[in-house]
Amino acid sequence: MADGDTLHRRGLMLILSSPSGAGKTSIARRLLDEDGDIRLSVSVTTRPMREGEGDGVHYHFVDRVEFDRMVEADEFYEWATVFGHCYGTPKAHIRSGLKAGQDYLFDIDWQGTQQLYQKDQQDVVRVFILPPSLAELRRRLVGRGTDTAEVIESRMARAQSEISHWDGYDYVVINDDIDACFGKIRTILAAGRMKRARQTGLIGFVRELMKRD
Ligand code: 5GP
Repeated sequence: MADGDTLHRRGLMLILSSPSGAGKTSIARRLLDEDGDIRLSVSVTTRPMREGEGDGVHYHFVDRVEFDRMVEADEFYEWATVFGHCYGTPKAHIRSGLKAGQDYLFDIDWQGTQQLYQKDQQDVVRVFILPPSLAELRRRLVGRGTDTAEVIESRMARAQSEISHWDGYDYVVINDDIDACFGKIRTILAAGRMKRARQTGLIGFVRELMKRD
């Protein structure tokens, strides 16, 4: 017996963007832990690896020469320069994965979001996470302890310019409570999966329902 949860569907690309420090990384991690149907799209970057990060897990870390080669070879869905380093989304596997029903999570900024959306509007679900206040954002950036004071100042400045792009998203969630914010993002994901256009297995199913005895 077929039901809505077992019928084949097309995968989606869930984009989470926010100024850094708004809680996006914790939410992304939790989503990947708790939802077996979504996988992280691992970006390629030229920035140095931070403590606690792994190559191929958080990013594929490459040098500038290799990044430029990948741009030339058209191996990216999109790419951008952020804080003087290059970041890009490799195309490999994603297109075929979507067709097979695999969902992907993207942790990318507004520039990447725009480019992905232009290439593939049907598959993209865009979510922007806002911090509850600038003071709280600063507190979180300082508390993380991974960046120098100078980097924190440049991230604060960038946060405000990032926030100005909030209107390029389908959904906006304020992260004043991490559990509530996470719940809202799971709801958005669940609704995205049920969109008619994504439920490719429905055609045959509905045809059966319309048969006359
Ligand atoms: P971080 O260096 O803190 O991990 O990331 C810095 C910024 O780069 C974040 O805003 C993140 O969303 C963005 N970013 C990470 N990967 C990509 C990517 O593949 N494409 C684009 N456009 N931005 C990315």
